[in-house]
Amino acid sequence: MTVLTSVPQQRLLVTEIPGPKSKAEIQRRSEEVSGGLGIAFPAVIASTGGAILVDLDGNQIIDMAAGIGVNNVGNSAQRVIDRVIEQVQAFSHTCFTVAPYQGYIDVCAKLNAHTPGTHKKKSVLVNSGAEAVENAVKIARHATKRQAIVVFEHAYHGRTNLTMALTAKNMPYKEGFGPFASEIYRMPMPYELRWLGDKATITADALEEVAHKIEKEIGAHNVAAIMIEPIQGEGGFIVPPKGFLPGLSKYCAENGIIFIADEVQTGFARTGNMFAVENENVVPDMIITAKGIAGGLPLAAVTGRAEIMDAIHVSGLGGTYGGNPVACAASLGVFETIEQDGLIERAREVGKILGHALCELASKYPIIAEVRGRGAMMAIELVKPGSLDPNPEAMTKVINYCAKKGVLLLSAGTYSNVIRFLPPIVISDELLLDAMSVLDEAFASL
Ligand SMILES: *Cc1c(COP(=O)(O)O)cnc(C)c1O
Repeated sequence: MTVLTSVPQQRLLVTEIPGPKSKAEIQRRSEEVSGGLGIAFPAVIASTGGAILVDLDGNQIIDMAAGIGVNNVGNSAQRVIDRVIEQVQAFSHTCFTVAPYQGYIDVCAKLNAHTPGTHKKKSVLVNSGAEAVENAVKIARHATKRQAIVVFEHAYHGRTNLTMALTAKNMPYKEGFGPFASEIYRMPMPYELRWLGDKATITADALEEVAHKIEKEIGAHNVAAIMIEPIQGEGGFIVPPKGFLPGLSKYCAENGIIFIADEVQTGFARTGNMFAVENENVVPDMIITAKGIAGGLPLAAVTGRAEIMDAIHVSGLGGTYGGNPVACAASLGVFETIEQDGLIERAREVGKILGHALCELASKYPIIAEVRGRGAMMAIELVKPGSLDPNPEAMTKVINYCAKKGVLLLSAGTYSNVIRFLPPIVISDELLLDAMSVLDEAFASL
């Protein structure tokens, strides 16, 4: 992969990490910024390009996070930059529901064309993943005249009041932030590694349990929507077993329930398809996108069957900044880059390289219980050897070791014991392998 950027695609340490300039800024951060915000990497960024982040001290860091699966097309991607500059010079805001502009319509047309299914689709644009999830729930409830929303164990759907209720994990997302929204029901997730039943029949058993719980505890006729991440993100890159998503989709169709795929983290070529549900030919009634949609500018969307999206009264949806013209311009640059640079195919290659390297590590280090994921969305789950007991301490040590060596890794997982790999899809083979060799050292150092 050749990336058009002036930032050399190479790891380089010129100081320790954090270096003196980063240290000073991190000190200032602790004085000025709310203590409620976490920090995954201890260096302050000055510039970026492709799969490299350059910090204030001049260290070049391999980016295995892409801003949480956002910069799929690479950091500071040229087509995104060009379109953003052109748009910001023309105008930066009118509010689409006050005075419309083409970019918004163009992005909706792209989403309607590129999301799964040949049925007539329509879209609405908003600012963040959580806002898109909120809108999907609003639309589903209004369109079905039903209230219950079904979600899953280990789910992550955001941090606003409604989306906290949809999100599974208490600490840190929900602790002390209640009361939460009502009419949310959580179902068992077929998490293969930790499934207590017979793994040979996991799909059928999980589907049966979901249907049973819905019928006995809610009533299928009261359910507006079933919402699921096709690969769970913050929950630890949990891949549902084959047949589970098609089974849910079928159950929804049989019961008048809207099937919503939250593709906020899995979308935009990340998993080796434009959208992760395509892997099993699932066609959701609604699909939620954000993160990878606009190369780092704040944008998100709900795309769905036209009759569902049009069920809302005029002015029932909207917002001041939703579908901001600069963010829309960036998004068009993302669509163009994915198509012209073959990033769907590239994500599959990244998956092969990562998968191979991680499986080798797993055979060497028994604390790696599982390698899972798809495409450029892979993870390893760490346990205490000889058991399935989560090993969050080892996860923290490995991530910190890699940070000191100039490799940015992200954690995940309900048990805080998963390391996830979400590099920009444009990352070179050399950078990937370099990151994997640092990871090997990190495990060896434990
Ligand atoms: C990140 C994420 C969200 C929330 O998106 P924000 O833009 O952070 O509000 C929702 N769903 C999934 C699957 C996510 O990964």
